[in-house]
Amino acid sequence: MIVMMTVAAWLAGVSHVPLPLVQEANAQVAAGGVAPGAEDPLTKPIAASRAAEWLAPAKPEKIFATSYLVGFGGLSVALIDTGAGLVLVDGALPQAAPAILANVRKLGFDPKDIKFILSTEPHYDHGGGLAALARDTGATVVASARGAEGLRAGALAKDDPQLGYGGRWPAVTRLRVMKDGEVLKLGNAAITAVATPGHTMGSMSWRWQACEGAACKAIVFASSLNPVSADDYRYTAQASAPIVKGFEASYRKMDAMPCDVLIAAHPDNAGPGSYNDRPGACRAYVDRSRKLLAKRLAAEKAGAK
Ligand SMILES: [Zn+2]
Repeated sequence: MIVMMTVAAWLAGVSHVPLPLVQEANAQVAAGGVAPGAEDPLTKPIAASRAAEWLAPAKPEKIFATSYLVGFGGLSVALIDTGAGLVLVDGALPQAAPAILANVRKLGFDPKDIKFILSTEPHYDHGGGLAALARDTGATVVASARGAEGLRAGALAKDDPQLGYGGRWPAVTRLRVMKDGEVLKLGNAAITAVATPGHTMGSMSWRWQACEGAACKAIVFASSLNPVSADDYRYTAQASAPIVKGFEASYRKMDAMPCDVLIAAHPDNAGPGSYNDRPGACRAYVDRSRKLLAKRLAAEKAGAK
């Protein structure tokens, strides 16, 4: 999700303000790392107004069995220990990469063992750190076809509801595309790609089972389902039909999914805590989005926005 709000805009009741342009994060991306003392183009801070809140430090945390959190107070990053290498989910902002890798180390793991980094959406707040993480670990980034397109470009897609905000982030070069329902197998883990379009057409959620002995939990790392857009965007426009249909398909899928533990790309969208293991967590997550989208569609139809 990309939401920018200055205090002035908030006071004025304006909920969407263009974000400051990312300072040419893509301009001179060094291929083989960074010369000592040089500024690293892949971790150069994106000065988003909510960066401090999103990147609020959090202790790395074991969720259950093989699954951990290595992200932040306002942005989730998950780690799965497959027994034959590690898998990371999402990469937060560019400047977040060193802290993510430090959290991996704090749990006793070696970042060089990260084989894959799964991406939930081509937006800078979840995908901005992927280029640096991939470079520093040697991992391959995995995304949907549309997600990979956006990550390769380091830019928003033409049909992104937030296109009007602009903004760029470091482009990812080493990508593997996975289809809806496809399973990534590594060690003792089988991670299923679940296409959850709507917030972006490339949005992908990821689910897997974490087992400790005979006890297993279905873990879902859900992409953002927030129906948020730039000011001039209309979900009721003809051109937006695939987005609305995408949301509806994502709701049906996530409602039906086994879900003992929900990790939301933005943890606050799943309620209090760094993850949600209360019964019905995924259905509640869907319900929140469904209500926001219905409200938005009704407001557009009423001519308000
Ligand atoms: Zn987003």
